[in-house]
Amino acid sequence: MARIQNDKDGTILAFMVIVHALALWGLLSPGWNASRLAVAIAVYVVAGIGTTVGLHRLICHRSFRCPLWVEHALVTAAMITGQGSPLLWAATHRRHHARSDKVGDPHTPKDSFWYGHIGWIWHRSSSTPDEWRRWCKDLAQDRYYHFLLRGRLVPHLAVAAVIGLTLGWQALPSCLYLPMVLWMHATYSVNSFGHSAAWGQAPFATGEGSRNVAWVGWAALGEGWHNNHHAFPASARHGLLAGQVDASWLVISALVALGLASDAKLPDPGRLAASRRDRHQGTR
Ligand SMILES: [Zn+2]
Ligand SMILES: [Zn+2]
Repeated sequence: MARIQNDKDGTILAFMVIVHALALWGLLSPGWNASRLAVAIAVYVVAGIGTTVGLHRLICHRSFRCPLWVEHALVTAAMITGQGSPLLWAATHRRHHARSDKVGDPHTPKDSFWYGHIGWIWHRSSSTPDEWRRWCKDLAQDRYYHFLLRGRLVPHLAVAAVIGLTLGWQALPSCLYLPMVLWMHATYSVNSFGHSAAWGQAPFATGEGSRNVAWVGWAALGEGWHNNHHAFPASARHGLLAGQVDASWLVISALVALGLASDAKLPDPGRLAASRRDRHQGTR
């Protein structure tokens, strides 16, 4: 609890308040029709896949290989939400894996469920602007990611302009801000519900509080199988057990089939089975 102090970043807090207000406006808008619903679903899926496949499984964990233009396209899709540069995202996430649910974890519900879900985003003490220098040396040469340190809103504003100029500016709250905020909370739920003992299951003994939460698995396009992910962080597939649908893995499989990705990593079946067996026997 020591990290929770009065160190809020006013700019980020204001951004979050504004986009949540616009999302609520979009939800209550009387102008819903089939085309608006289709665009809203598309924004959710595109921003979501960009985040899970691009930022998370590719950039942070290098769980598969692909051409640089595919990587940049996926990352640009993730940036629809106006979040920080991939350099900041990867630094925060790699530190989460290194210090999960311990001192130094940027977002653990042990610091309060609310803080682990969303509060950490506007608290300066959760991260430092240049921590990518320590955690992302492999990404530090990418000029596009450096541009996104300053131009984080460029992809967001570009999508807003396309929607505004084609469907009308009054469609923005429904077609952009509502799906964007819903997606943001889907990812936040991985950090909060996905690390709370009251939710889901932990079939693998991982040494921290990660959980598999089924509804987060669906909402976050496969990222909710978070205990699996902590057990096998290099795996391109997170839905590893029976019945665990992993939409992001389906996309990676499609990229491989199209020749746009390769070398997708999966856990060794023997190690996967042994890990579960050890867990059940309480030997890990
Ligand atoms: Zn985690
Ligand atoms: Zn991860």
